Amino acid sequence: MSERRSGLFVTPGEKLGVIEEFTPGAGTYVKNGIIYSKIVGTALLDMLNKKVYVYPSTHPANVPRVGSIVLGQVTSVTNKLAVIRIFKIGRRRLSGFFTGALHISDVSRGYVETMYDVCKPGDIIRARVISLLNLTYHLSTNDKNLGVVYAFCSNCGTMLEKRKQRLSCLKCGKTEKRKVALDYGKGIR
Ligand SMILES: [Zn+2]
Repeated sequence: MSERRSGLFVTPGEKLGVIEEFTPGAGTYVKNGIIYSKIVGTALLDMLNKKVYVYPSTHPANVPRVGSIVLGQVTSVTNKLAVIRIFKIGRRRLSGFFTGALHISDVSRGYVETMYDVCKPGDIIRARVISLLNLTYHLSTNDKNLGVVYAFCSNCGTMLEKRKQRLSCLKCGKTEKRKVALDYGKGIR
């Protein structure tokens, strides 16, 4: 895995290699023998000296900040938390990915029983960055313009259509719940 990562865009918390292979250099940290990127930047694996570095990104504008509106794809959902792969900040598509976490308490002002009613893996979601903690961007969808913008049927994978308060699959007839953005299904902007 390591050689292929040289010259690639990396984000905080990305695995770069193991300490048996490489000496950790600037821009990295080690946890349980695994070397990770500490910063947003470009990974360099010096095969001759067996050293790994990360050079800071030269495009700092392409990094989420507190207050940024981001777009991402839901990768996993548990009862209280959704993990989101952020691929766009504002209107800028990223050359790499950042990991975001949406906790159930940051979904909306009202009570939310379970994250399974908010989003599902594969959905495209718009959110605001509220903090950066432990190398994870913490997100909120507490606004009518924030939430799922595209959702796919968990039964057959077809894009769900918004019908009044519900999302329906026109192919298999399943209806599903999401915390949708006001412009659900109107295109990614
Ligand atoms: Zn379906």
